[in-house]
Amino acid sequence: MKRTCLLFTTLLFMVTSAIIHASEPQTMRVDYYHTGDALTEIFSLHQVVVEPLPWPGNLARTTDETNRGLYLFEIVEPITNKVLFSRGYASIFGEWQHTGEATRMHRTFHESVRFPKPEKPVRLRISKRDDANRFAAIWSLMIDPADMLVVRKLPPLDAKVMKVMNNGPSTKKVDVLILGDGFTVEEMSEFERHCNELTKEMMAVEPFKTHKNDFNFWAINVPAPESGTNRPSNGTFRWSRIGATYDAFRSERYVLAFDNQRMREIAQYAPYEFLIILTNSETYGGGGIFGLYTTVAAKNEWRSYLMVHEFGHHFAALADEYYTSPVAYNDAESSRPEPWEPNVTALHNARHLKWNHLVDSNTDLPTPWPKSTFEAFQKTNQAKRKQLRAENRPESEMSALFRREQAFSDSLFATSKYHNSIGAFEGANYEATGFYRPAMNCIMFTRHTEFCKVCQEGIVDIINLYVD
Ligand SMILES: [Zn+2]
Repeated sequence: MKRTCLLFTTLLFMVTSAIIHASEPQTMRVDYYHTGDALTEIFSLHQVVVEPLPWPGNLARTTDETNRGLYLFEIVEPITNKVLFSRGYASIFGEWQHTGEATRMHRTFHESVRFPKPEKPVRLRISKRDDANRFAAIWSLMIDPADMLVVRKLPPLDAKVMKVMNNGPSTKKVDVLILGDGFTVEEMSEFERHCNELTKEMMAVEPFKTHKNDFNFWAINVPAPESGTNRPSNGTFRWSRIGATYDAFRSERYVLAFDNQRMREIAQYAPYEFLIILTNSETYGGGGIFGLYTTVAAKNEWRSYLMVHEFGHHFAALADEYYTSPVAYNDAESSRPEPWEPNVTALHNARHLKWNHLVDSNTDLPTPWPKSTFEAFQKTNQAKRKQLRAENRPESEMSALFRREQAFSDSLFATSKYHNSIGAFEGANYEATGFYRPAMNCIMFTRHTEFCKVCQEGIVDIINLYVD
């Protein structure tokens, strides 16, 4: 009896493996609409697409055990319920749900999930975190790859795919694609220069530096008819194929691209797992959503920091460790479950701190730091920052303010006892109290030059999902 069972299980395993492990599967994309308001959300299918390139990921790491992201999508074998592929991710809708606008109206956002094309029908299951941060299924859909209505004829790409950095076959590397927004035909070489410089600068920061050979970088710029990126708050209106814009959720420095379908139709011509949108603009701004993309103002003096910080969100779901800048989201609820992000904690139990293995036994928890001095300085600085924007002052003045701010934090922290320690420093995740970050300073906290050790480990976990 036991032997029959074992044989049956083995056979089933072989069958389910065969469903997804064809030698070089195509890339399948499911496009859907995500609609709702602050309290409700529904998903509806737009289309199932077979992208032009093979799956660029590592077929030995198909399931995601990192427990990151507000949402999780799984490709499930319908009879055995075996998960053939999964990835945690986040979305514009998920962020928008916490804005004031979502309490007053419904909105729709276009989203996609991508996975290796199965050979037989599968179930797509999307889950979302519940109040205790556990994933619970919220939508499910059967997908038949042989259905005649699966889209196989695609709009052509009127731009070239550039190799920025190549370290080997896509199936063994993390593939990052840089997309240009607002660069004209005449500005093509400028776009290429930004791609090369920013890639080099990011790969000089740990842990990317150690893992540089695990990355490939590609770039595509579909030339824009007019130079520059859309910025409604100062009357700059621009159209581009990627459609990036400042003032996302009415936050002046938040840059997002809302037309997901147009973006995917360009991106599908390069092998990619992660996306960076470089905007042809100088104004400080950017954004990063886990599993979606990073946006960076390519001409801002702080572009290198912006790129690395926002990529931290996009690549590894790192939380913001800062809490003194205004954001578009409403306050978190008073009862706080432990955040799922690897680099913030509610410190419900100091002995079970999730980064305990990096904490010295003689480090105090919570860990003291010059919090009130930092906050007083930040308060003055945020007021100056607001004034510079209100008066539409040159960007160089804003960059100079940020330089002074960084010099102040660096010197304040340098003399503080725990400035090189991992502990639990109060103030993180947009909240001055109740959330704690692992280090006094980190790229996710100020415009510092290094990730803290906890963020570095969080990034390496994701690199390992893609490399051989
Ligand atoms: Zn950190």
